Amino acid sequence: MKCQRSLKALCLLLVSLFLSVFCRRTIAAPQAGKSDPVTFVHCGTLIDEVTDEPRQNALLEIVGGQFRAVTHYTPDFAKPAGAAFIDLAAETCLPGLVDSHTHILLQGDQKPGQYDEQILKWSLPYRTILATQSARRALEYGFTTIRDVETEGAYYADVSVRDAIKQGVIPGPRMVVVTRALNVTGAYAIEGYDPALTLPHGVQVVDGADECRKAVREQIANGADWIKVYADQRVSTAQGVVHSIPTFTPEEFHAIVDEAHREHHKVAAHALGLEGAHNAVQAGVDSLEHGAYISDDDLRTMAGQGIWYVPTLYIFVYADEIHQAGGFPGWKGGVEIHAETFRRALKAGVRIAFGTDVGGFEWTISPAKEFPLMVNYGMTPAQALRAATASGADLLDMKEQIGSVEPGKLADLVAVSGNPLSDIHLLENINFVMKEGAVYKLPGPLNSH
Ligand SMILES: [Zn+2]
Repeated sequence: MKCQRSLKALCLLLVSLFLSVFCRRTIAAPQAGKSDPVTFVHCGTLIDEVTDEPRQNALLEIVGGQFRAVTHYTPDFAKPAGAAFIDLAAETCLPGLVDSHTHILLQGDQKPGQYDEQILKWSLPYRTILATQSARRALEYGFTTIRDVETEGAYYADVSVRDAIKQGVIPGPRMVVVTRALNVTGAYAIEGYDPALTLPHGVQVVDGADECRKAVREQIANGADWIKVYADQRVSTAQGVVHSIPTFTPEEFHAIVDEAHREHHKVAAHALGLEGAHNAVQAGVDSLEHGAYISDDDLRTMAGQGIWYVPTLYIFVYADEIHQAGGFPGWKGGVEIHAETFRRALKAGVRIAFGTDVGGFEWTISPAKEFPLMVNYGMTPAQALRAATASGADLLDMKEQIGSVEPGKLADLVAVSGNPLSDIHLLENINFVMKEGAVYKLPGPLNSH
């Protein structure tokens, strides 16, 4: 047994050495050139998010980090000298996944006491080191692009991690970041301590339209890709509706959205209840996060104006289980109301993108747990998958680069054994990950964690 284990360790070492050399070379040279390595991938099945039906025996040609051709594989295929060949004949390939709501700087803060522990006791360097681990995990789960929606007191650490990944210093998904997020005085943790103490906040606290505008300018100057605002706080449920207390006044909200848009940046709004969602929609935000309850009128406006809904279903199921297991009452009826809102949004034709709030739950859990809930609440597996591929790309204004497998797009590719369109749970076991032509995970026992 001991022998086998050390042999396995040696193999793992050799594979990771090979991968790190291979990955670095490809990341460092993303533009196609004459001397770029060529890789062919044979996919037994390919869901390309271009055609409606999966394709059988697809052959992908990848050069300089991009798909150059998607053709049909035949058994007489002989790869050209010098090209690499990856055999995924037994797998279903799909575009790299997009998680539009993550927190790499949180390590499961929903468990009692964890938020205060992480914000008050963990140093910023330690939190950033853990964030690099979270980023690597996101990639290994198949998420080649993420929108990370606030650092929770870790200032601009997300910008540094994003840039380190972009430079090929560490492995991770392509990141779109919001930095600190905005909220008003008295509406956000850290809370409940002696008022004489000055404690850090999970957000940048701003009051008044001028401060709001200034904070947007500051965050963009410091590297924010999107701006995130908190539209509400303190929720309660009654008769099938989640109510909340709004945070920003319409004037403040308008200043935030106007300033972000003036600088060609988009705004994501956290909104849990009726009142918060309404104010966010009225302010003209670009995406509404969570949306446990959204009125039919606001859903109509969202559909009409193309405002995205990122429902983050799993975190609420997870948090409810944890609270009930801890003897707390849980969120009475909230999960069911959320499910009903999702169904109404789907019916109203609102654009829905896949997002999970991972970081709220631990990074040791695959964010793909969101998929079965989307299907349980009314999406087809193909719709749920599209929310995490083509729709995610669209939300991020990256549909020219990612979201489907077709020539000219970045070579982001993942694979599973079996057909995820007949069993959506399979997406929790991604066994092949390629980002911009670099391989980070291969099928087989060597990848078992
Ligand atoms: Zn979140």
